Amino acid sequence: MATTAGSSTPPAPASSAPPSELATEKEARDVAESARETEWEYPSFVRELFLGRFRLDLIHPHPPEDPADEARARPFLDKLKAFLERYPADEIDLTGHIPEELVQELREMGAFGIKVPTQYGGLGLSQLSYIRAMEMVTSKDGALTALLSASQSIGVPQPLKLFGTDEQKKKFFPRIAKGAITAFALTEVNAGSDPANMSTTATPTEDGKHFIINGEKLWCTNGTRAELYVVMARTPDRVANGKAKKQITAFIVERDTPGVEIKHRLHFMGLKAIENGVIAFRDVKVPRENILWGEGRGLKLALVTLNTGRLTLPASCAGAGKAMLRVAREWATERVQWGQPIGKHEAVAQKIARMAASTFAMEAVAELCSALADKGGYDIRLEAAIAKMFNSEAGWRIVDDTLQIRGGRGYETAQSLASRGERPIPVERAMRDFRINLIFEGSSEIMRLFIAREAVDHHFKTAFDVVNPEATGAQKRAALGRALRFYPVWYPTRWFGKGMLPSFGEFGPLATHLRYVERAARHLGRSIFHAMMRFRQKLERKQMVLFRAVDIGAELFAMSAACVRAHMLAQKGQREALTLADAFCREAKQRIAVSFDHLFSEHDEPLYKLSQQVLRGEHAWLEQGIVPMAPPSPEGRADPALGGQDPKAKTVRREAAGVG
Ligand SMILES: Cc1cc2nc3c(=O)[nH]c(=O)nc-3n(C[C@H](O)[C@H](O)[C@H](O)COP(=O)(O)OP(=O)(O)OC[C@H]3O[C@@H](n4cnc5c(N)ncnc54)[C@H](O)[C@@H]3O)c2cc1C
Repeated sequence: MATTAGSSTPPAPASSAPPSELATEKEARDVAESARETEWEYPSFVRELFLGRFRLDLIHPHPPEDPADEARARPFLDKLKAFLERYPADEIDLTGHIPEELVQELREMGAFGIKVPTQYGGLGLSQLSYIRAMEMVTSKDGALTALLSASQSIGVPQPLKLFGTDEQKKKFFPRIAKGAITAFALTEVNAGSDPANMSTTATPTEDGKHFIINGEKLWCTNGTRAELYVVMARTPDRVANGKAKKQITAFIVERDTPGVEIKHRLHFMGLKAIENGVIAFRDVKVPRENILWGEGRGLKLALVTLNTGRLTLPASCAGAGKAMLRVAREWATERVQWGQPIGKHEAVAQKIARMAASTFAMEAVAELCSALADKGGYDIRLEAAIAKMFNSEAGWRIVDDTLQIRGGRGYETAQSLASRGERPIPVERAMRDFRINLIFEGSSEIMRLFIAREAVDHHFKTAFDVVNPEATGAQKRAALGRALRFYPVWYPTRWFGKGMLPSFGEFGPLATHLRYVERAARHLGRSIFHAMMRFRQKLERKQMVLFRAVDIGAELFAMSAACVRAHMLAQKGQREALTLADAFCREAKQRIAVSFDHLFSEHDEPLYKLSQQVLRGEHAWLEQGIVPMAPPSPEGRADPALGGQDPKAKTVRREAAGVG
């Protein structure tokens, strides 16, 4: 039976499996690679960008809103706004709990079934209307976004919509539309970014009608409050070409199934009211009909689900950006120091300009991606990953700048401000709540790896076998043929393009930025090709080179989205948007120039060497004169950096050095 959070079960130590039980690097890569969507059925602006081709036609004109959807969304968004205006976010941050009556109100207005089709009782709204709702929610409280978004962006309804059978939809959608909270359970103690380490198993019963799930899931958002989970578990390996292949399958699991236990409710730096927990599954019997999509397709399902699921977070970040901009604008006008409002001092003024420009770009990116997802016939996987990475990082800088502009008041809690009669502006809470955006739903590093993998995919498919030591002679010859057909045309034409001539005139003052994007896209395409030629198979290990290329691509996408949105808004009479897009593009160009200048930085290697020395404890002398921040690890492994004498330490150091 399911138990509630805070059960009397004594806390189990985090079970770190010995290294021998963890997936090897090759296994981890194979699992990730087999879950990749390999085909590009539909076009993608970003994919083209990495190939040095600026296909503005793919995003311009900005996909229009559906007026019918907008009209249907309006009453809901009005109700949500009224609800949020009286929602006691700071009190909830203190108590760490969103009261049931508030959750019930959200259920009644349909907030848990925003995208669930109307035929099942949901609001049936578009992705764009959904992210607008989430943007508004985040401007008030990130923990409430976590509740609604974990349920709908990554929880049961999204994969159900994409992959569910008719029977599954009939069974679960009506419950979700009425407000059943759902959760997504992938992460485990040893499976964070790397799902190959997953140890939760789902074993078929003898008659094959059921699966028995055993394992433990970590950090499951909504886990302590949900009535339905999507659980990822390992089903029996599939043997292909004599080799066993790990299979991960997605199951819908009812919280009331015997054996489902909520072991702990977990607590974090921010999002104090997030209902996140360790969920244990002990001999949990789940019918085969509850498999989503098919056996062995769980990881791919998670990735595909996240393509659109991931679009909520960029919109949330834009919502947070807007909330911070308002705080900074009001404070920088009101606060007088050194004889002037602080917004008149250039250092603060520059921050405010950058915040406004970045917020505009963040909204442009988030809305463009969602509008493209709604339009269909467009592959948004790369755009969504960039939106997640770019908006979370830009948003974090905005929160940081707001705190700086608020000075000491930025660091003070809302309650403390109120206690001495000041406006309780919760920048301190916003900062605590925001930070996790760079980690969950794909950390910034994992997003960059994902984007980089796709950025080089075309070159890999075309020519990799030429240098691949595992390729057969026939494969090498075929690759050579492909390369000879593609590169003699593609490469020379990456040196010349529209951006060298007067062009994009319809964009008025922004045309210069689009010409730059066109030129920079070709430069990027060439640079990625040069990196391939230079590093060959080793390129996949050159994370810094790849990450800089990804950053350039992300900035170019954000510039394009900002120009396209500003153009659309200017046509509707909002000409001020042109100023914001212009400012954003000027800033982005500077960042791009730095990334190009350092693309093959000579500092990467010495820094990598230094990091390995640090990891081996060779610079532990630098850490003298301090006391450890935490007690020793549960396994009793002493910290080698602090002079630990643990016998295993030598092995750990040897492994870190790559000689173990
Ligand atoms: C508040 C909260 C809510 C969450 N909600 C959910 C949820 O609802 N469902 C769920 O399944 N999970 C959830 N998670 C888990 C979350 O998705 C993971 O924290 C995330 O995937 C990262 O895993 P990890 O923390 O184990 O980091 P690790 O994988 O251990 O990574 C540690 C660091 O190393 C970096 N790193 C890892 N591999 C590489 C590499 N190959 N190259 C370069 N850098 C690398 C990472 O980017 C990170 O910075 C949640 C976590 C938190 C804290």
